[in-house]
Amino acid sequence: MVDISRGTLGISGASELFQLLRDGTPRTRAELAATTGLARSTIALRVDELISLGLISPVSDAQSTGGRPSSQFALNPASKVVLAADLGVTHGVIAVANLSGRILAKTSGAIDIADGPETVLAWMVETGKTLLAELKLDLGDVISVGIGVPGPVEHSSGRPVNPPIMPGWDHFDVPGFVHEHFSVPVLVDNDVNIMALGEQAFAWPSVDNLIFVKVSTGIGSGVISSGLLQRGAQGIAGDIGHVQIARGNGTPCHCGNRGCLEAMASGPAIAKSLRDLGYETNDNASIIELVRQGNIDAIQAIRQAGRDLGEVLTACVSLMNPSVIIVGGSMAAVGEHIIAGVREIIYTRSMPLATSHLTIASSSAGSQAAILGAALLAIDHALSPESIDRMVS
Ligand SMILES: [Zn+2]
Repeated sequence: MVDISRGTLGISGASELFQLLRDGTPRTRAELAATTGLARSTIALRVDELISLGLISPVSDAQSTGGRPSSQFALNPASKVVLAADLGVTHGVIAVANLSGRILAKTSGAIDIADGPETVLAWMVETGKTLLAELKLDLGDVISVGIGVPGPVEHSSGRPVNPPIMPGWDHFDVPGFVHEHFSVPVLVDNDVNIMALGEQAFAWPSVDNLIFVKVSTGIGSGVISSGLLQRGAQGIAGDIGHVQIARGNGTPCHCGNRGCLEAMASGPAIAKSLRDLGYETNDNASIIELVRQGNIDAIQAIRQAGRDLGEVLTACVSLMNPSVIIVGGSMAAVGEHIIAGVREIIYTRSMPLATSHLTIASSSAGSQAAILGAALLAIDHALSPESIDRMVS
């Protein structure tokens, strides 16, 4: 269970000790000493530091008798909370979560991302404060804030960069704005990255190599490789929507290129292909409704979108050898038809070894993936070795 290799890397500080205890498994000082190779006296000192910060707490011993004080310690998930926000184009979700990622309170509301960052973030801040008050918590209980937005984000600064559907947000200092209200670290990422984090934690906690594909008004993916979310050099790793596909054949895309995956297989693209056949498909919901009615044109269009997706994902499979590919986003509500198209292409075009243990499935976390992921984004930062080091010092 315990990753012994961490002990051999020369654990010295309270932060490294805390990384062992973060998983919630109670451990004794002796177990911590054996794992880390540190002296019992050093362990005792570090444990006391972490207890005084409230980050870990004694856990009652199952086999203890006679009222002896507990000798086991574990993460104290109730010691602090994070504020999480999933900001969509027309809908925002705000939640407060404890340090193990459990959502303590959640609310949502209609927003218009095009109202600009000041308006939307002010709503987020006020809604967050209301949730904290309902939980009888105050600003001092918040250890970090995690926010997902529907556009590309420069990871180093937390600023959206040329977001196509977020007018007024380009290079806006989102962390700076929120930090004025909550004086804690503020993490910002694009929606599909947080969905990948949320889906992995919710349904695939032991899977280290996973691609989460969001198919909705746009198409994008969040890539987890060797257990870590991959953002790439500028934060746009996984942005597969504008890879050209064979069937694309000159179809203009809003990005300025032609034949992009997004121009062929996104919700609006499928809706248009069905309108060309005479259906009144004006939004994603109307496509989903047609599929639910068993309409053969709609099912074929969805299946073709799945094949298009599979074409691009086949290259992704070769590149990173995932063990799980998840299809989520609003169009995933069409069920198995899109997955069938993805499987059809990936299983026939990939190398056998790459697909022998590859699972391709619909999102299990569904609409919860993003808000859970936003909370995990905040928690991972707050409990990182660097953050714990700062708190201890
Ligand atoms: Zn494009």
